[in-house]
This record gives sequence, structure tokens and C-alpha cells, in this order.
Amino acid sequence: MTQRSDEGNVAPGAEAFQVRDDGIGETVICATCGVQRQVVSAQTCPVCADERQYLPEGGQRWITPEELARRHYNTMTEEEPGLYSIRTAPAFAIGQRALLLATPHGNVLWDCLSLVDDATIAAIRSKGGLAAIAISHPHFYGAMRVWSRAFGGVPVWIHDADRQWIPDPAPEIRTWSGSTKPLPGDLTLIHVGGHFDGSQVLHWPAGAGGHGVALVGDNPNVCADHRWVTFMRSFPNYIPLAADEAERVVAALRPHAFDRLYGWTPERVIRQDAKRNIERSLIRHVRALRGEHGAVTWSARA
Ligand SMILES: [Zn+2]
Ligand SMILES: [Zn+2]
Repeated sequence: MTQRSDEGNVAPGAEAFQVRDDGIGETVICATCGVQRQVVSAQTCPVCADERQYLPEGGQRWITPEELARRHYNTMTEEEPGLYSIRTAPAFAIGQRALLLATPHGNVLWDCLSLVDDATIAAIRSKGGLAAIAISHPHFYGAMRVWSRAFGGVPVWIHDADRQWIPDPAPEIRTWSGSTKPLPGDLTLIHVGGHFDGSQVLHWPAGAGGHGVALVGDNPNVCADHRWVTFMRSFPNYIPLAADEAERVVAALRPHAFDRLYGWTPERVIRQDAKRNIERSLIRHVRALRGEHGAVTWSARA
């Protein structure tokens, strides 16, 4: 774990070789999606066997937490006051990042990584530790149980509609039902569905200087042109969401005020006007599904 304030190269520290004694038995990590599970439940990774993901040529590959720690380390970058991105380098699995959201009433880890080491834990503790973990959807489960246990078994909040994807049920993995759930620090989990039935977004009203922030996994997903998002069931396999599914995602976000959106990599951030861009993108998405292409204007209606 190395903290950095810019995008410069960082060298792995010796502590990267230390792996937590997590007390959950022998585990392996899927090298393609990064989800950890107990060896007793590891055959083919269900997350990768699903049509939204894929298995590599040659089939399922598992690695141990020790192998991961030997070759990788984590970095932490401040995104804005109170918000830090944590990534694994060199990139592992999908290239996930987690976001540490520090609030006066407790910190929340949004999404998860596969690599948990003492240096990363110490860095998070130096910012106040964790009150809770919340994960957008199964592609970001990573080593969620180990993360939780490293911080005293804090709850890992997953929407109940994704219960079937939890690798190894445990008391620290908690599900919730309904459309919104409050978390410490005036944060709110929003159930948006779509990409996964239980896909969720974390709303941070104090972010972006009080204009509000949405922390998102890949639903909606920020496009290469950051004025746009897209709505997909599968990104690697190019399966779009149906119009009514995309409309439900946007409808769930509509009541919540935010101007900035953090996607799942540092390259996928809409710094301002995020809500307007989402509405405009919904119009484009629905039109594209109808075979209607070309400029979308603000007066356009889907
Ligand atoms: Zn997998
Ligand atoms: Zn995903």
C-alpha cells in the first residue's frame, strides 16, 4: 500500500507480502473477476460463468491470496476532500477500484478489491477506519469478507435482489430490501437494478462541495465521452439493457440531488452536470434501441 497524491509510479512496499489471517478458512480468488470464495465452494466461478462475464481461454483460473499479495500492491489517491480511491497495481481482474468515503459520522468503503494487506488497512485506519462497506454489484465483491473482518466485522451491505451471488454467506454479509437505505454519514444506498437485479448506487449529498455525488459501479457506466453514460447488462459481451430497464435505473436516481458521478475507474468520472447527462443519455439509449441515431437535443423526448 502506498499513498500518493498524483498519478506517478509507486513502488510496492515489503509489507505487500503480508496477508491477513482472516479466519475464514482456505480461500481462492477468481483471476478473471477477482471474487474470493472458500476453497470448498470453488469450482467454476459463477460470476464468470454468467452471460455478463466470461471465462478466459483455457478455462477457470484461481489464485491464492498469497499469490496476489506477492505480485500486487494497493495505491490510494485523494479524489476530492473526504473521498479516496484505492486500486490494485498492477491491475488485477477487472481492474476494480474501491472508494473510501470519510464522513464525520463514520467511513464507508464503496465497492471492494481482492487484495487486502496490512498497509492498506493501516492507511484506512489512519483516516478513521470503517463503519460499513457497501458494494454496487457482484463484479465488485472482491475479498469483501476479509475487508469486513479486518475492521471488526463491519456490515457489508448488498441488495437482497443479489443474494444468490454472495459467494459464502456469513453474518457480516448483510442484505437489505426496498428502494433506499440510509448509511452512516448522511449517505444513502439507492437500489437501481438493471445491470444486476440488485445493482445499487451510493449517494453522498455533501460531496462535490455540497452539490452532491453519486458513487456508481458500472450502472450507469461513464462513456469515453464523459458527457454521456450508457446502460448495459454486460459490458465485455455488449448486451444492452432494455429501454424499460434503463428507465428504471434513471427513475431511481432522479429524486437524489447530485452533480458529480464517480464510475468504476478514475477515468470514468463526470465532474459536473451528471444528472443532466444521465437524462440525456437515457434518451440516446432508448432511441438507439429503436434504430434512431443522431444528435440528441434537450428538447428531445424518448
Ligand atoms: Zn470470476
Ligand atoms: Zn458489472
